[in-house]
Amino acid sequence: MIAVLKSGESKKCFEKVKKVIRDADYDIHVSKGVEKTIIGLVGDRDNREDLRDKLLTFDCVEKVILILDPYKLVGWDFKPKKTVIDLGDGVKIGGEELTVMAGPCSVESREQIIKTAQIVKKGGASILRGGAFKPRTSPYSFQGLGEVGLKYLAEAREKTGLKIVTELMDLEHIDLLREYTDIIQIGARNMQNYPLLKAVGKLDKAVMLKRGMSATIKEWLLAAEYIMSEGNQQVILCERGIRSFGEETRNTLDLSSIPLVKQQSHLPIIVDPSHGTGRWQLVTSMARAAVAGGADGLMVEVHPEPEKALSDGPQSLKPENFQLLMEEVAVIHQSLKRFKKRERMKKH
Ligand code: PEP
Ligand code: MN
Repeated sequence: MIAVLKSGESKKCFEKVKKVIRDADYDIHVSKGVEKTIIGLVGDRDNREDLRDKLLTFDCVEKVILILDPYKLVGWDFKPKKTVIDLGDGVKIGGEELTVMAGPCSVESREQIIKTAQIVKKGGASILRGGAFKPRTSPYSFQGLGEVGLKYLAEAREKTGLKIVTELMDLEHIDLLREYTDIIQIGARNMQNYPLLKAVGKLDKAVMLKRGMSATIKEWLLAAEYIMSEGNQQVILCERGIRSFGEETRNTLDLSSIPLVKQQSHLPIIVDPSHGTGRWQLVTSMARAAVAGGADGLMVEVHPEPEKALSDGPQSLKPENFQLLMEEVAVIHQSLKRFKKRERMKKH
């Protein structure tokens, strides 16, 4: 349920409304826009209609909407304006510009991550990716450098000014990641790890939620709802392909998820064509397609020497190919601006 307050509502009335909601045993999430204040009421109770009627008696309440969608906070009703995540220093996700996160699958050494950071910075990326805790299919594969890897990432950030995104796999590392990273990545394998989602939901830190390997859009958005319902509104969605029957690609990159998510949610969506295809030869085409489809950004694996990578070498771009990708997607993104007005018209 959502309560929309009249513009310029009095503080006194606002406080009274909040008390009534709390007394009815609902959690409160407030979205303050320039013109309106929206209160999201979270909880599934039988007293919805009674509470709605009570709220409508207040002067400052313009309307109350009973939301039938399974998600409340990730939907447009709660926040009619698109979420833009501001990481500082001009780095934003969900704004006018395309945001590119790039780097190796895993942090392998100090030299490797610093060199890759310089390469992706030169190409125009604003965020460095790199796993320090790696979810590998085999327990015998390289598992990441752990905290040492985080230290190397932090050093790369210092040297280049890039922001950092890295994966959290385990609750026990949450404080460590909070200290080191700008964005916490929740990987595909953990999309429905609810204790992990609730824990990052309590942080004041951007979270990038990758789509689970076999997750529907609804399950994915509900996973985002878990994070938001704990208070953290800085959520980024990342389409990274889903399991299908084809053997030619590692996953099937579901580009239709971009407009589907945009129809249903104000959250930014970025696309990872590296895990989405598993083959570097396909990455640039899919990156172009993702940008043309309206993605807010890309996550791309880049390695100075993919043949020596300790993980995901076959899907990692060489520096010169990353440079080309960046030039190409910039042209597409620029030409898309012409369609912005039409997109808005279609929405309403
Ligand atoms: C990754 O980005 O390093 C990764 C493991 O991706 P995913 O969770 O999408 O498989
Ligand atoms: Mn990888």
